[in-house]
Amino acid sequence: MGTNLSMDAGHAVGVGPLQETVPDLDSPRGDPKIAMPHVIAWNITRRCNLACAHCYISAGSWHEADSELDTKTCFRVIDEILAVNPGPLLILSGGEPLVREDLEEVADYASQQGATVVVGTNGTGLTDERIGSLMAAGVQGVALSIDSLNPQYHDRFRHGEGALSETLAAVDRLGQHELDFLVQVSVTKGNRSELENIVAWADEKGAVCVNVYFLVETGRGAGMQGLKPDENEEILAQLCDLQREYQGRMMVRSKCQPQLMRHVYERDHDSSLLNYQTRCPCGVQYCRITPEGKVTPCPYMPEVAGDLTERTFGDIWKDAKIFKLLRNGDLGGKCGRCEYREVCGGCRARAYAVDGDFLGPDLSCAYEPAPGVAPTVPVTRDVMYGESPTLSLPWSPEAESRLSSIPSFVRGVVGTRIEKFAIEAGYDQVTLEVMSEVRKGMPIDFSKRMPFFARGRPGKLRNAERTSGVDETRPRVENR
Ligand code: SF4
Ligand code: SF4
Ligand code: SF4
Repeated sequence: MGTNLSMDAGHAVGVGPLQETVPDLDSPRGDPKIAMPHVIAWNITRRCNLACAHCYISAGSWHEADSELDTKTCFRVIDEILAVNPGPLLILSGGEPLVREDLEEVADYASQQGATVVVGTNGTGLTDERIGSLMAAGVQGVALSIDSLNPQYHDRFRHGEGALSETLAAVDRLGQHELDFLVQVSVTKGNRSELENIVAWADEKGAVCVNVYFLVETGRGAGMQGLKPDENEEILAQLCDLQREYQGRMMVRSKCQPQLMRHVYERDHDSSLLNYQTRCPCGVQYCRITPEGKVTPCPYMPEVAGDLTERTFGDIWKDAKIFKLLRNGDLGGKCGRCEYREVCGGCRARAYAVDGDFLGPDLSCAYEPAPGVAPTVPVTRDVMYGESPTLSLPWSPEAESRLSSIPSFVRGVVGTRIEKFAIEAGYDQVTLEVMSEVRKGMPIDFSKRMPFFARGRPGKLRNAERTSGVDETRPRVENR
């Protein structure tokens, strides 16, 4: 599934060859504590049974498996990723990842080593058997593309007759198997009026999140025209309202349109989205691996940071010029002077797609900052996503094990919230029982169940919790 988990004035960076001089590491984003690969989107194949009009990776059934990294090389790459971050969120995507017969083998290896693994799929091949084998391989969640509940629209957009009914059947099966799922919607003029209905339907079906994707003109989407800035603005305002309405049950977010952060910042001070500490995280806390083993800042940005068949993941992450520029370079045009450049910063892939300058302005944004470089809006949270927890109470070994199994990206926020709750409730130690009481204090207030991104990994928890008799590793489904 071709979708992904996502800010100087007048500055332009020549791209393609990258400029030779890389700025000094003077931005907080260059600090290795911040610049950590928390989320990795891995397009493990370019093959796909569908051929969607907007597909950023131009996937299709005509691609061959020959150029894909083989299983053994995938294991080696996983080892290299985990040497940099022992608790990443790994999104195995494509193309259609289910076409790879070794998908489960790769997922199992990664989850056994400590990664939280989710799979991004178009859903048409999610049989009961496949869901079972993915779960047995430690897969914690699945992201499915659903662009409309009207088969005519969805099937035409996805170039696959019957695709919607197959994907909807997969949603029901995921519910029966109690495997968390996210719904991914690519918004266009043709389906924007359906968004509210799709979000309500996803909630009813028990989705943990709806991600609304905005076109980035790359891959097969290069020939398409995205929505106009004022249309984007209206949809973002709607998403801001929807995320507030569904807070506690399901996340609703934009993808590839970080301008949502401005709306949230202005209108929803309680939003968990304000826990994000960097502008668009590509190259800072996020990157993509192509089927052939090239590392790029995000799935929508084809500029290559390095080749995993020639260098290790750690070397590329630390030394690639494009990553250093994304971490430390000043943004250009209106994004560079905007007060929201640290929490939004615009989509770097879209800026790149327009004229090859990945630090340039995101022209899909309707906001016009005042002339002159404004001070940035202040951070509103003590602990942000991607930070380590600062703990003061003793934690039982089981509770500590549970915390360490939560994806690194949200661990600091989750750990801090748990302690705050424990202290306010008068506990002098954090135990699994305290953790099970604290759902309301989670970054996303799921009062009835915890989604995979705030839950520990079963493999890692098994030993510690066997002794305590508590097993909360399965998602709670009362609300489905
Ligand atoms: S489902 Fe569509 S968008 Fe996803 S990989 Fe296949 S062709 Fe691309
Ligand atoms: S560059 Fe754009 S598409 Fe890539 S992660 Fe950032 S916002 Fe998303
Ligand atoms: S101008 Fe728009 S895209 Fe750029 S940082 Fe400001 S709000 Fe974000």
